[in-house]
Amino acid sequence: MARYFGTNGVRGRIDELTPELARRLSQATGAYFKGGKMLLARDCRLTGEVLHDAAVAGLASAGCDVMDIGIASSPTAEFMVKKLKADGCVIITASHNPPEWNGLKVVDASGVAVSKERGEDIEALLDKPAGGGKAGKVTRHESATDEHIGEIVRHVRTGRIKKKKPKIVIDCGNGTAALIAPKLLKCLGCVILSLNSHMDGRFPGRPSEPSEANVKDLIALVKSSNADAGIAWDGDGDRVIFVDERGGYVIGDKVYALSILWKAARLKTQNSKPAGDVVTTVATSKAVEDVAKTLNLKTRYTAIGAPYLSEEVARGGAFMGGEEVGGVIWPESSLAKDGFLTAAKLAEALCEKPLSEWLKEVPVYFNVKIKLEADAKAKEEMVARVKAETRKRKLKTIEVDGVRVNFKDSWVIVRASGTENYVRIFAEAKSEAEAKRLVQEYGGIARG
Ligand code: MG
Repeated sequence: MARYFGTNGVRGRIDELTPELARRLSQATGAYFKGGKMLLARDCRLTGEVLHDAAVAGLASAGCDVMDIGIASSPTAEFMVKKLKADGCVIITASHNPPEWNGLKVVDASGVAVSKERGEDIEALLDKPAGGGKAGKVTRHESATDEHIGEIVRHVRTGRIKKKKPKIVIDCGNGTAALIAPKLLKCLGCVILSLNSHMDGRFPGRPSEPSEANVKDLIALVKSSNADAGIAWDGDGDRVIFVDERGGYVIGDKVYALSILWKAARLKTQNSKPAGDVVTTVATSKAVEDVAKTLNLKTRYTAIGAPYLSEEVARGGAFMGGEEVGGVIWPESSLAKDGFLTAAKLAEALCEKPLSEWLKEVPVYFNVKIKLEADAKAKEEMVARVKAETRKRKLKTIEVDGVRVNFKDSWVIVRASGTENYVRIFAEAKSEAEAKRLVQEYGGIARG
């Protein structure tokens, strides 16, 4: 079992993820990447500077040459790993967690984040001799954000956006999105209004997770300013959600479904057809699979967690990757979720028709979530009971993470939480009553 690495790298408050632990983990990470060339970035949290310095010490003492890109969004760092041909990358970030949290996200040479399992291999190298008595050198690389903007611009038709000038309200949540989003959207030709668009590691404007409740100001400003859309990112900019021109919140799964439609629409203008599979996690709305089906694409499901999603896209044959919380992978640019390329694609799509019109192409489902208290042993037993019952009933299931049962117009997943003492049950159906019925039925089966 990994002691420090979870699904999304190492996370903790400064008394848990101390500078000393950050140095030791970074040294082990440097050893894991065999003293190669390492990229280093951080988000704007207040503890970022001290953890950054600890990471520099750890990596360089493992013999790594460190290319420090400074404060940058996670998608920027993940894109730059490939561009600068680094052997790996450490990003000091806690994504959407509250401001007192921070974390270490480790990314490999292809831009894929290290999972809990690979994290165990890093932990096995903790406090082992590394670097052979030689420290690597540290260099600064100042232009990462501009290089990332240059990459994104290459993937959208800026001419159309400059002509149409869509009016977009952005809410950077005081995170690293503030460093790139305003500049990118201006450069694309959008008219922008901005909220919380200066970096502040205390996240004074709103909590960092772009949930519907947290982006009320954005929704209000989209409506009062008659804007074409609103966009909000999480703290490190890999996740993105939209608001349509009527003030409707567009949840993460729908952002992914729309992205699939937009990529297919662009290919059509090039007389080309979408190819490959749509990759997503078992917690994602069936709307994604439905949209994929209309384009004759198959859907491949992965365990929940960005590293698993990226690993599956990296295996090849993927049209796109995406997860339910609004993270979209555009494999033509990067194997990591990129909330800014996704935002640029929205600007391009608005040149064709309003966002609410695009949303008509995404099927509507209702969902219901419950959680049942259970300790580690009970969690296992509950999931096993559901698996046994679905086998007995000969139902269609996916068992990469708990058990997801697929019906014609609905599905339900029963899975053990990785971090808390709960079994989570989540159902989606064409009516709320049916979704409720499913969670109750499967809750009953789980309890035994
Ligand atoms: Mg994030």
